[in-house]
Formats: sequence, C-alpha cells, structure tokens
Amino acid sequence: MRHFAIVGSGPAGFYTAEALQRAYGERARIDIIDRYPVPYGLIRFGVAPDHQSLKAVSKRYDKVADSAGVDFVGNVSVGEDVSVAELLDFYDAVILATGAPHDRKLGIPGEDLPGVVGSAEFVGWYNGHPQFADLAPSLGGADAVVVGNGNVALDCARILSKTRAEFEGSDIVGHALDALDASAIRSVTILGRRGPHQIAMTPKELGELGHLEAAVPVVEPADFPPVEADEPLEPGLRKSVSLLRGFADLAADKPKRIVFDFFAKPVRIEGAVRVERIIVERTRLDDRGAAVGTGETYVLPASLVITAIGYSTTPIADVPFEGGKFVNDRGRIADRLYAVGWARRGPSGTIGTNRPDGYEVADQIAAEMPADGASAKAGVEGLKQLLASRGIMATDYDDWRKIEAAEVAQARPGSPREKFVRHEHWMSALDR
Ligand code: NAP
Repeated sequence: MRHFAIVGSGPAGFYTAEALQRAYGERARIDIIDRYPVPYGLIRFGVAPDHQSLKAVSKRYDKVADSAGVDFVGNVSVGEDVSVAELLDFYDAVILATGAPHDRKLGIPGEDLPGVVGSAEFVGWYNGHPQFADLAPSLGGADAVVVGNGNVALDCARILSKTRAEFEGSDIVGHALDALDASAIRSVTILGRRGPHQIAMTPKELGELGHLEAAVPVVEPADFPPVEADEPLEPGLRKSVSLLRGFADLAADKPKRIVFDFFAKPVRIEGAVRVERIIVERTRLDDRGAAVGTGETYVLPASLVITAIGYSTTPIADVPFEGGKFVNDRGRIADRLYAVGWARRGPSGTIGTNRPDGYEVADQIAAEMPADGASAKAGVEGLKQLLASRGIMATDYDDWRKIEAAEVAQARPGSPREKFVRHEHWMSALDR
C-alpha cells in the first residue's frame, strides 16, 4: 500500500487523485486535504456562478471522492495546522495542488486605495469565499474599471453588468446579488495594455457580452488592424477578434456600457480617501509585441477598480517558491514532493488543462514509486492523530454532503444552492 496526500481539492487535486487511482489501483490510499470543509477549490470559489455547466464537472470529482481508497480531509490548513515536512513523515508522496488564489499586483501608485480590489477578492466575494465575504466592493459610483484582457476580466465585467433576472439559475451568493442589484455602476471599462490581437479572452465568454439585457459592449474600430490581418490568427483568437469587431455594429441603446479600451496601460490610481480616477497611458506594440508607453496619458473616472491581471500561489514554509509558483521540474519539487495545476505551472489554461497535468505527475510518481513497493508510512491515521493532538477538527466527505444538503435546502427559488459564506456556518451545519 502507498499513501499519498494531495493538498488542495480543486480540479488539479481531483484529477491527480483520479490519475493515482488509475496508476495504483487498490494499492493506493489517497487523502485529499483542503483548508476548508468544502471541496472543489476553483470550481466553487472561482468559476463564475452564472456558468453552472462548467461547475457540473464537480460530479466527476464526487465519483473520485466516493471511490475506495480516497478520502477527503477538510478543515486542515497545510503550512498552519500541519507542515509539509510532517505530511512527508506520514505519506509516501505529497502533491501540492493549492492553485493560485492571490492577486498579482499592478505595482503602480494608488493601488492600495479603498475601492481598488483584485479579481480574486471580487470573484471570491460573489462566489461566497469566506475570506472575502465582507469585501463590500464599492458599487455606489457610476464608473468601474477592470484591468486585464483575460477571461477573468470578462467574468468581472459581466457580473457587474447583469440584471437580477439574468442571475436566475446561478449560485451567486445572496449578499452579492442584492448589492449588484442596487449597484449604481453604468459604465465598465476594460483596460487592455495591448490590442485586440493580443487578448486572452475566449469566444464563448466574449460572445456573452453581446447578449446582455441591460448592457452593451463598445469598441473603437480604430483600435483594430485591417480585417485581413486576422487571417493568420489561430482559430479561437480569430473568432474572438471577429466577435469584438462585431460589437462596433451594436446599437448603444442599453443603460450600461462595457467599453473595451485597448492600448491602455494604467500608470496611477488617484483619489482623496478612496479611488476616484485612474491615469492611463496610451501604448503601442514594440517589434516583440510588448506594450510600450507613448507618453500620452488621459484620465478615466473610476469609483471601482478591479485588477484582473493573473494570480499567484500561496507560499508554504520550506517549499521553494519563485515567480508566483512552486519551483519544480515537470511537477517534481523535491524528493517525494510534487506540484500540480496552477501551483505547478502558474494560472493558465482551462479546467480541463489540469487533467493531463495531473496525469503526467501521477505517471512520474508511479515511475519513481512502484506499486508493489511496501510503505512504512502511517498515512491518514498518523495525520489524524497529530491533528487531534492539536485540537484540529478535520471533516470528511460525508460532512461535506451535509453542508451541501443544507446549502441546497436554503437556496432561493431557481438557484441550485445558497452557499454558506462563513466558516462558523459550515461548522454549525455539522452541529459542531
Ligand atoms: P490571463 O488569461 O493570463 O489574462 C491576464 C491579463 O492581464 C492579460 O490580458 C495580461 O495582458 C493582463 N496583464 C497582466 N499584467 C498586467 C499589467 N501589469 N497591466 C495590465 N494588464 C496586465 O489571466 P486570467 O484572466 O486571470 O485567467 C486565468 C486563467 O483562467 C486563464 O487561463 C483563463 O483562460 C482561465 N479562465 C477561464 C475561464 C473560462 O473558460 N470561462 C474563465 C475565467 C478564467 P498581457 O497579455 O499584455 O500580459
């Protein structure tokens, strides 16, 4: 029997568990540890609440969790409640699948003014992440600015622009739905430091903006190169650019506008006590395709600024870390210690990208640790003893099922669930 600890129960964690199961069959005992008593990581706290079909992948993860040899150990924070070195004492291998939950910083003056939030915070707020339940993003002014040209920027802009009715069927948390419903925001400007050919947005997500009830996307045709220049683009990007071009033909007859401002780099955020404006510099592309400032600046009014410029992983004591992720060679960090998913390669790709990623690392582990080798490790029993001695109350998948049932029971009509947004509410759903 081999004992494996996977730290993190998001997509990377579950795909790695699935892959280890395939590689070792009944000879593996796999524990998926999470700091929260609820699983799925990014699927619960990151994927947009109005994209329920993407969230449905959790059903696949449930099958993994329900299978023999796999356990969920929730409510345990690795690095705080238990160290990686201690896990390595109990397990043959430890796989860090901790994702990338922190916002990268712009590194410009004014970034810390009230009213400036990172997308991890904003997304966490509307998705019921306990750390951001009290974020109270500033929705009382008319002008929001979202920095970044990726899908997360699109998520933020769309969520800011939807009507209450458009959240029907979503699991956006009640506090966010009410606040967004009362929002005074009328304009959402999406700032891209490069141009339409350099966006990191995908067609489906972009296309949604063209069909919103109360908001219309706006582009400046002069930002686009001649249409023939789209020809060599890879098909997905070509489709996205074509959708963007099409926004120029939409009638601006809705109360809210989502303005794409390309070749626009934020240089300073200003305000007396909170954000009031953002100073933007026009850019051009150099011959390597990087954005360089032209020296021309202009002012955009901003009552809310959301930075959506990528994420970094949480460092863990004694685990080498650089550039926002764990230092690793094809997933291997050190002897018996591995990283998968965003903790391994940074925040890129779709949910499905984490599947081959997890399988590759599991294959590497299997090559290094034959299934028929005997393990002298104590596995989960050792971990549980240690946690009990420290007064840490670990939870399991049955506990999650109870929390899930309680969240489903309190759902507003038309919504799949109303998430608990505080740790103590999860625990009281478990009578603890
Ligand atoms: P992303 O795709 O890497 O996009 C980051 C954006 O931020 C880029 O446009 C980048 O511009 C810009 N940026 C970076 N640093 C900047 C700076 N200092 N100033 C101005 N702009 C800056 O990241 P993401 O949007 O956070 O998404 C993360 C991953 O999750 C992606 O793989 C994404 O596709 C995925 N995701 C998928 C979905 C979906 O499928 N529905 C939804 C959400 C997220 P440059 O290109 O110029 O660097």
